[in-house]
Amino acid sequence: MTIRRLSRVLKMDRYNAWIEIDGEEKYAHVRKRVLRDTGIYPGDYVWVTEVIKGKEYAVEKVVPRKNLLARPTVANISKAMYVHTFKNPEGYLFYLDLFLMNVIHQHIKPVIVVNKIDLLSEEELRNARDIMATYERLGYPVMWVSAEKKEGLEDLKSFLDRGTIVFAGMSGVGKSSLINAMYGLNLSVGEVSQKIGRGRHTTTYTKLIKVGDTYVVDTPGFSLLEVPEDITLRDVSSGFPEIAEREHLCAYPGCTHRNEPGCAVIEAVEKGEIAHHRYESYLKIWEVVKEREEEKKWKRRKRRRR
Ligand code: GDP
Ligand code: ZN
Repeated sequence: MTIRRLSRVLKMDRYNAWIEIDGEEKYAHVRKRVLRDTGIYPGDYVWVTEVIKGKEYAVEKVVPRKNLLARPTVANISKAMYVHTFKNPEGYLFYLDLFLMNVIHQHIKPVIVVNKIDLLSEEELRNARDIMATYERLGYPVMWVSAEKKEGLEDLKSFLDRGTIVFAGMSGVGKSSLINAMYGLNLSVGEVSQKIGRGRHTTTYTKLIKVGDTYVVDTPGFSLLEVPEDITLRDVSSGFPEIAEREHLCAYPGCTHRNEPGCAVIEAVEKGEIAHHRYESYLKIWEVVKEREEEKKWKRRKRRRR
């Protein structure tokens, strides 16, 4: 009888998987039925059998996933870290809000990391802390670091010392630098100006790197900065805790919090209880999802008429 072993997919290339066996990376062929039934992605836990002793394996089955991030696709993430910078580049809070909404729906714990604090004057740092206080009040942990000056990294590391961790954020904010500084790795780091656009990162595959008890996900230009296709209008409001907690107070059931009278959300924005930029992000994402839903409806109608 062939013995099955539990393993984890570190990297994928079409039908080929690289899996972790006793701390080493081994090649595994993926059975056709696996490709057909569940698909297979980096981060998947899989049952494998040995094809050539100690050398080659076959993936027989994928363990049901805890979550699956899209673009690029990675499975079973435990924490997602969003790297934000206030200077060089000046990050858009909209991307942060979008990221937070995305990970809530995948049941992933977010951590906000403000990097490059060495570039901020005392006054700039004070302003930055005011802005981030909004997120802390919502329950999101915020860490302040400098990858360059190796400041705050120990705290961050103890926060991210287990599980499977992805780093998201705009290009040039220092994701690779942080991964290198924290885990003693050697991912390539680019100049901010060269990095606008595509093609700098030498990694072409999404890859899990094991460091102690942690898996760090290294991916080419991983961003998480798009509205996923499966997000519905309901998901948008439930992805903003300060909106979700007030919804039941709105005058109309099914209130979209855009212009309805008696809207508790708009009222809270006016009173300053909900930050303006957070509300703006909500509206912007809502519009994107609405437009998509309309388009789908329209396509369905067109199909029916034919
Ligand atoms: P990524 O695109 O998010 O992976 O960003 P990189 O790690 O490649 O870093 C982009 C640039 O920012 C590089 O030139 C880094 O040297 C620089 N950088 C990264 N962290 C810091 C920091 O804490 N302070 C300063 N001043 N520069 C940093
Ligand atoms: Zn409302």
